[in-house]
Amino acid sequence: MQAQPIPFDTLTPERFEDQMDCMIRNANRDVDHISKVLTPTYSTVLQPLDVIVTNINDFYAIGSHLEVILGSPGWRESMTRARSKVTGFITGIPLNRTLYRALLQIDADALGAAQQRHLQQTLQTFRLSGAELDDTKQSRLASIEQRLNAQAATFASHVVGASDDIKLEVKRHELDGMPTHEIKNAIKRGQHLGYDGPVLSGDAVCFRTVMRFCRNRRVREALWRLYYSRGCTDTFDNRPLIQELLALRREKAGLFGYDNIIQLRLQTRMVASASQVDTFLENLSERSQSAAEAEHLRLVEFIEHELEQPEVARDLMPWDVDFYSEILRERACGFDESALHPYTSLPSLLEGLFSLAYRLFDVRFKPMPDIPKWHEDVLVYGVWDRGDAFRGYAYMDLHPRQGKRPGAWMYPLVHSTQTDMPISGVMAANLSRGTDGNTPRLDHREMCTLYHEFGHLLHHLLSDIKIGSLAGTNVAWDFVELPSQILENWCWSNDALSTLLVHEEDGLPAPDALIRKLVQSRTYRAASGLLRQVSFATLDFKLHRIPLDEDPLAEALEHARGYSLVPLPETYSMITSFGHLFSSAVGYSAGYYAYLWAQMLEADAFERFEEEGVFSSETGRHFRETILATGNMAPAMTSFVSFRGNEPSEDALFRRLGLMER
Ligand SMILES: [Zn+2]
Repeated sequence: MQAQPIPFDTLTPERFEDQMDCMIRNANRDVDHISKVLTPTYSTVLQPLDVIVTNINDFYAIGSHLEVILGSPGWRESMTRARSKVTGFITGIPLNRTLYRALLQIDADALGAAQQRHLQQTLQTFRLSGAELDDTKQSRLASIEQRLNAQAATFASHVVGASDDIKLEVKRHELDGMPTHEIKNAIKRGQHLGYDGPVLSGDAVCFRTVMRFCRNRRVREALWRLYYSRGCTDTFDNRPLIQELLALRREKAGLFGYDNIIQLRLQTRMVASASQVDTFLENLSERSQSAAEAEHLRLVEFIEHELEQPEVARDLMPWDVDFYSEILRERACGFDESALHPYTSLPSLLEGLFSLAYRLFDVRFKPMPDIPKWHEDVLVYGVWDRGDAFRGYAYMDLHPRQGKRPGAWMYPLVHSTQTDMPISGVMAANLSRGTDGNTPRLDHREMCTLYHEFGHLLHHLLSDIKIGSLAGTNVAWDFVELPSQILENWCWSNDALSTLLVHEEDGLPAPDALIRKLVQSRTYRAASGLLRQVSFATLDFKLHRIPLDEDPLAEALEHARGYSLVPLPETYSMITSFGHLFSSAVGYSAGYYAYLWAQMLEADAFERFEEEGVFSSETGRHFRETILATGNMAPAMTSFVSFRGNEPSEDALFRRLGLMER
């Protein structure tokens, strides 16, 4: 008999809101009670506090999940109200001086290692949320946070507005080279807006498609210039917002005694210091520079000699690079996406994924069609552990729908703590639907998305930690992408693909030649791609360190020019639409490096699977024990070293990208 699943069939926005209100009332009463106990101990204060907060967070997560996945006005309205109440409750906890005093009185020496870790992490969270600041500083912190949130939201809305504002009218023949469906979109957009011809927009998909496929150089240039001046016009001006956001973050760091926000944010990361990140990025930059230059030279020579366009080759501009790279990619790799489709039907990919989870991690997924769900698209699986122990529920909602948020993500819905509900998580995506009721067939990129989110899901579901704040994916921010990104490697490995990709009709494995071409395509212009990410990561750190009277735009342009192998015009302004850094109060600020850091971790960790076999159950079990099961019970570096046997090095990443001998 399994514990009760989440009652998605009966949960309405009204019921949710009522229950949330009731839970917050009770939680406030409970917090009040535990902060005033006469003898504060682990079991009288900290343990109940974790249960109170985890219950609120988990229930709130269910509402947030329904809000983004259904996108209905009812859920949006209820969640707007619930959000402000929950945020108020959660941010109020570390500022509760009575509670903080009670926590400080807990005798750490009397605790076991796990409880000590819990206490130490909780005290750190309290400190970094302002528990030790005096009243004046606490109230200044609150105003800063409020202003940061408001100005970041304005920044984000400006980016949306500026993107919507781009309407580039073109002639039909000027779109030659573009995929048919994108041409159709441009024609439809033109008609919809009352123009005579097709219209190109500033959304990222349209922009990238034009840069890669549109043969008309003049059109590419025009759209490129518009795209990289978003947030730089009088209507949608993000320039003053950047100045203010940087200043507010600096001031916030100052309240805690730090020079800048990087130092503050790195307190809870896997990396030990800002200088460790500097060295890491410098290393990547140095080691990929000459390979990126060689890739560029190869492209220029290709344009000059093989395409016989010497005038373009001599005068290559930023709006040319993706276009010609795409032509060269086709010639160099010759990988044909459609040849893969007979092997990538969604049901067979899911079967492959589940068999991988079973072989590596000893966990089984079985369909449970009768469990309540929020939409008929949703697939529900029961998750059984070794020895047939029931663990919980996995929900998958994988296709686009009206109102559903774009992108792909995993939400932990219920943590495995002291509650009655079994651990539950959802992975959501917007993968292609099959046309006319046929089975969906995924592109390779979508297959990687599926594996990525499944990695997050396993990290949540296979957690063995009963302390909610330290369980599952509640790990250091520059560590959380390790379980997800490492799983993508099974989509790029010869050994894995020859087992995982089988023909949907005859069940035969995909041909070696097809797999080989696919795997080879991973290293195409790899150094250029890496260097681009390094340039964003170093820009992030630079902007958060420059003197406040310096112009961040000028700084960013100079920085970009230092990394670019083609000339960048004076008007180029990427940072005024750089949402990662400025679209939320925190976001990826002082954190962009984490993308690259996680790549280093997973490349290095995956080499152990390559050495011992990509289906090695022993290696899989060890990964489960050291990484997936442990949450934040140990420092991230300790978990990594327990699995890998040594600290991570960039070498594996360079080997994988074909930039270093194996
Ligand atoms: Zn991820």
